[in-house]
Amino acid sequence: IFVTFEGPDGSGKSTIAEMVYENLKDQYSIIRTREPGGTEISEKIRDLILDTANVEMTSRTEALLYAASRAQHVEEKIVPALESGVTVLCERFVLSSIAYQGYGRGLGEESIVMINEFATGGIKPDIVFLFDVGDNASENRKIKLGGDRLETSGDLFHSRVRSAYEELSKRDKFYVIDATKSIEEVFNSCMEVLKAKLEE
Ligand code: C5P
Repeated sequence: IFVTFEGPDGSGKSTIAEMVYENLKDQYSIIRTREPGGTEISEKIRDLILDTANVEMTSRTEALLYAASRAQHVEEKIVPALESGVTVLCERFVLSSIAYQGYGRGLGEESIVMINEFATGGIKPDIVFLFDVGDNASENRKIKLGGDRLETSGDLFHSRVRSAYEELSKRDKFYVIDATKSIEEVFNSCMEVLKAKLEE
């Protein structure tokens, strides 16, 4: 089973993915991974994307680098795991690129979907958890001084990303999780969906 955790910065994806992993790891064969990154080459691409020195990086370059990082991750790690029956928990996947590069950078959803079809070979998650932080997202997002290139990108960029996630959460193919609830409640909502799927 391929499970992805999606949502804006500071929505709690990492915390919950870790809790889910810890809870299931003794009972199921399962791995936890993240994007951008997840393999040595993908992590190198991540560093390139997030490097504050790369102020001149164009949006198209950024989108292609995310896709390149993902291609390596899918082929080297995700697909082999799934093929041997391992459940994969992945923080961020194509939906992040749609929100950040498609809407945040204004490249449009269609072109992002297109390059990612190529990058992933068309593989789709079985479960997409979309962490919804509603309109209060800006308060959750800590403005980090000395943050990475994306974290220090303007507030306009991040507010476009948040509204993109808001819009995307209206589509019915995702499990929209109210991430403003307590960690316990968010965790339980995810576990309910996962347990049902694992026991199918
Ligand atoms: O999720 P994580 O904090 O590891 O993401 C690292 C940075 O990359 C964040 O600032 C996030 O906003 C940004 N990002 C992005 N486009 C993506 C995925 C992540 O701009 N497709």
